[in-house]
Amino acid sequence: MRTPTTLRVLAGLALASQACLPTIARADGDGSDYSCEHAKLEAVSNLTAAGFSEATGEDTRNFAPTRIADIQHMKLDLFIPDMNKPTLTATQTLRLTPFAEMSSLTLDAKAMTINSVSAANTKAIFTYNDNKLTITFDPPLPQDQTAELITTYTLNDPPRGLIWTPESPAWPGRAAQLHTQGQPQSNSYWFPAHDFPNERMTTEIIATVPAGYLVSANGKQLSQERVIRRIPAATGPRLQPYDRFHWLQDKEHVAYLVSLIVGKFDVVDLATLATKSKDKNKSTLPLPVYVPPGRAIDVARTYANTGPMIDLFASKLDEPYPWDRYAQLVAWNFEAGGMENTSATTMYDTAVFSEQGDLDNDLDGLIAHELAHQWFGDLITCNTWEHIWLNEGFATYMEAIWFEQRDGEAGYQREVLNDFDRVLSSDSGRAPSEPGMASKVYAHPWETFRRSANPYPKGAMTLHMLRERMGEELFWQCMQAYVERSKFTTVETSEFRRVLEDVSGLSLEQFFEQWTARPGLPEINVKFTYFPDRNKLRFVVQQMQAIDGDNPAFAFTLPVFIKNTAGPDVIIDPEITNARQVFEVDLEGPPAFVSVNSRAQVLGKFTIEQSPEQWTKQLENAPTSIARVFAARNLATLATTDAIADATANQVLRNLALDASQPMFVRTAAIKSLEGRNAKNDIRSLVTTSREAWEIRQQISQSLAALVTRSENTSDQSLRDFATTILLQRAATDQSQRVRAESMKALATMRVNEATPIFLNALQTSSQHDIIRQGALAALAIAQPQGAIEAVIPYTREGYLSRTRAEAISSLAKLASQNPTRAKDALLAALQGRENRPRMAAARALVDLGDKSAITNLATLATELRSPELAAQLQTMQRELEAK
Ligand SMILES: [Zn+2]
Repeated sequence: MRTPTTLRVLAGLALASQACLPTIARADGDGSDYSCEHAKLEAVSNLTAAGFSEATGEDTRNFAPTRIADIQHMKLDLFIPDMNKPTLTATQTLRLTPFAEMSSLTLDAKAMTINSVSAANTKAIFTYNDNKLTITFDPPLPQDQTAELITTYTLNDPPRGLIWTPESPAWPGRAAQLHTQGQPQSNSYWFPAHDFPNERMTTEIIATVPAGYLVSANGKQLSQERVIRRIPAATGPRLQPYDRFHWLQDKEHVAYLVSLIVGKFDVVDLATLATKSKDKNKSTLPLPVYVPPGRAIDVARTYANTGPMIDLFASKLDEPYPWDRYAQLVAWNFEAGGMENTSATTMYDTAVFSEQGDLDNDLDGLIAHELAHQWFGDLITCNTWEHIWLNEGFATYMEAIWFEQRDGEAGYQREVLNDFDRVLSSDSGRAPSEPGMASKVYAHPWETFRRSANPYPKGAMTLHMLRERMGEELFWQCMQAYVERSKFTTVETSEFRRVLEDVSGLSLEQFFEQWTARPGLPEINVKFTYFPDRNKLRFVVQQMQAIDGDNPAFAFTLPVFIKNTAGPDVIIDPEITNARQVFEVDLEGPPAFVSVNSRAQVLGKFTIEQSPEQWTKQLENAPTSIARVFAARNLATLATTDAIADATANQVLRNLALDASQPMFVRTAAIKSLEGRNAKNDIRSLVTTSREAWEIRQQISQSLAALVTRSENTSDQSLRDFATTILLQRAATDQSQRVRAESMKALATMRVNEATPIFLNALQTSSQHDIIRQGALAALAIAQPQGAIEAVIPYTREGYLSRTRAEAISSLAKLASQNPTRAKDALLAALQGRENRPRMAAARALVDLGDKSAITNLATLATELRSPELAAQLQTMQRELEAK
């Protein structure tokens, strides 16, 4: 079969240039472990939801719940008598209008004590089952008549939603704090709500807290005043000073975006900083950043790009920033990276950089992500969790848009390749029955955030593919039209598609079905052969994934760049619709190389059959940075029998690694490729070059360790000695904390005994995110030196960052054979406390130890946590332990 192809000859400019802007260092972890994937706290792999019940035949897919009334406004009046006692009393006023005559209303309200419910001109009688609050009205509330429902209630240390961190002797000097986390459906742990995203309302929070604490909520602060309250005490009532804060969010948003934070902070307004410096015509939008006391000095270096990002997104989307302020608040014990509460994003506890930490950390990805949610997520909200990619995919893609502006084309390509890789690696763990990205099939809302069809990168790639297909101008016209049409509403995927179709004229139903609804990816094999007698280059494109009636072949345009040995470059973009397609291109001579999918325009697993010599040529003359990385990766596993060709490939890779004009992700890919090719001498030679960037030093550390470990059988003592010297030095003294951490892990992998004192010393070293300490904990678990267990145990206890504690707990499990009793005691102790991350890590560690007597401890923990999400994870762990 032959498919018509379009052939156009390039003037050699559009794709030939390589962006030469220097890339700015970006920490590896920023996109993954610190993104707002709040559900990533503990990975759950076995998502078992099905679309119907085997037993009853019931349709168990998730549809948006019915709204009985339109809720317009919520006023919450909260009183917190003591920040060290996790209780509060509240009065909630809901203004609502029934869609029809309303005799009863059910709200989500979890783990509360409901004291009273009342409404004017009717008798309101409530029942409460610890999960739902049902109110019956006698007489019923009339249709279309606005009513006010007043509920008073008490919270006593809610298990979710409102996370309370009292003062602790383990943290001397740290003030008590609380923050809330509503997504996906946890805000109903602290106020009664229609706790689903298909309802928008304005909100108002009045919070009275002990004097000296600050309160942040959504929108603008209307007032702050000192009040005196009479407080009961053992010796009789006492008068005590309180501060009463009044916050108003006067534009509608959904329940999960309501935020409350109470604590002691340094607050720095970035807008004021900008005005003071040079930008005289900056807007008056307040941009406060709340950080732990004493850290004001670090705010500007960490958050400086917030203002420019707001300007960029507002102009790209042709929609001004929607809210009254943009606050970013660094909160203790926050489980995720960031959470985009309307006008007030919550950030993780170490999201403010010291001067040292700033050397190898970059918060811009997270800042851009959460900021983009203020449009995609807050201004426009997914109507059900099925459509979460309309929030997360868009926010992830806007990160790439920011880096495109900051770092140029190379920055954009780095982000796109990162998303492309994440989609592929996430999909590789897919169970056959797992649903696609936008699907109603899930047992818990949080599953939609962590599917194998990961809505973060896959949603971002969907937008990238649309932009590639439509071109710059049309794509942004579409995005602007979508924002204009959807703002202040909740949306589904089809609504986004319809806007695109209206604006572009394109038929996109197949595209959306393929990339957003359907599970799995195409597996594309491309072979090409040159026929000199006919001057033809023949392509065979084959889709290797299973194809049947339910899963037809994917349809896409395949971008192919042909580097000609004679004549100009050729670009073709055949339409692929069949499982196997053959097409031919006229070519004057054999191609130097063929680069397929050079800008990752097609999301799929590609196998391109090309010789090592051709890959080497692609490496040198690739049309894009992404194509250069693809070449490096292919060369990692391809050696020829031709020593000269191999040496040439290594030389080109080495040159790339050293070329400071290349983007960092290309340079590190080149080093990784040399590692794959076992090119020991080339990697050794890289070490001696001066002025390496920290990313290069880090990659070299990892690659050296990998080479040494691989060559253990051949006992290459010279390489081992060389690597040991370099890594010992880097682990102890490298300027970059990340390089120190990586070098420690590398030494541990190599079983270098002399490194143990460095690990032990590093345990006591403070660093950004505690990365050095965490590196040492991981290294000790790998190296298993005598007595390591005793060194690790203190870090499992309260008084260290919760991520550090989790790392220590996981290390402890690996060191348990050194002293099983001590290990078990420490893990049981770590099940206690107020920090969920170490508690869950301890549960996991007990399962790994395989001691069945811990089953009851896991059951107790599930009861104590009172959280359905965590209980589900603990049940899975219990089953796993029982089966051991
Ligand atoms: Zn997000």
